[in-house]
Amino acid sequence: MSNIRYDRIHDNHVIIAPERLHRPDCYLSKAPTNREVEDFFDKACPFCEGNEALTPHEIFAIREETSLANKKGWQTRVIPNLYKAVQIEAPYQHHHGAFEYWEGFGAHEVIVDTPKHYTSMLQWHEADVVAWLQTLRARVADLRRDHRIAYISLFKNEGVHAGATQTHSHTQLIGLPIIPKLQREVFQRTYDYYNHHAHALLVSEISNEEANGERIVAQKGDFTAYCPYASAYPFEVMISSKKALGQIDTLSDKSMETLAPLLLLILKKLKRQLGCFDFNLSIATPPLQEGTVERELLYNVDEACRFAIRIMPRLYKHAGFEVSTEVMINPVSPEFCAKLLREGNDE
Ligand SMILES: [Zn+2]
Repeated sequence: MSNIRYDRIHDNHVIIAPERLHRPDCYLSKAPTNREVEDFFDKACPFCEGNEALTPHEIFAIREETSLANKKGWQTRVIPNLYKAVQIEAPYQHHHGAFEYWEGFGAHEVIVDTPKHYTSMLQWHEADVVAWLQTLRARVADLRRDHRIAYISLFKNEGVHAGATQTHSHTQLIGLPIIPKLQREVFQRTYDYYNHHAHALLVSEISNEEANGERIVAQKGDFTAYCPYASAYPFEVMISSKKALGQIDTLSDKSMETLAPLLLLILKKLKRQLGCFDFNLSIATPPLQEGTVERELLYNVDEACRFAIRIMPRLYKHAGFEVSTEVMINPVSPEFCAKLLREGNDE
């Protein structure tokens, strides 16, 4: 069983999770290279439709009304991660002292994004994106009811350079009893800004980007896609909105239907410039529960925080400087990236 250790020097946490060591690494050993290999892979892939028996029982699925749980007939499927960093069955217990830690309590779920053996989000259709967002919405809304979970991380690793070990397109959710330091600091700044200016920091950011124009990539409905001024990654793209549309667990179907084509458009634009590229994608998730975080961080969440998706292409490896300082070196300016991404007709 894992534990969540507190690092007194860096005021941060580290999850010591020996079970993660046993993950099968499909990318390194048997990535499909032709149709024959893909056929073989479909039969062995635990995330492909028809192979439901190869996974633990599903927690949630969007599926045909007449279909049965853990059988064919689904659009998205959520299962516990077999190689979990934390687990919901662990005691919710914090140990103090010189070696401070939490028992490895938390949620670690895999969202199988599509029944097809798509290896990239680039192969998705709009309906796939909408079903994916609806699934994330349902899981976060459900876990919000568990008052032991203080923070949920939603992320997608695509490709070996982004840390993926399964080729079938999937997303992960990790719910923790603590808020990671970086996120806690982000929320604190977000709330301080809101308290001082009476509007969200991201509203300012997007307004400034719109006025400048250089880093805007595309806009659709309420959403704007742009390369952030201080992008940490080459071709990093942020999709967010000046409007208070709610968080991932309260976003409306209408917003999801607008967001889906914009997300696909951005991925298509990135592919045109980068070819098949590896990336991490994360979805902003404000802190969840009273009692587990400072009360003030939960006030006016929807006014202070904006729904946002961050796409981080992994073109370069981080080295000693980035690891020891958390200051990223980005060799490509976001202005140049945005200019390239705007070019061409992708509609
Ligand atoms: Zn598969």
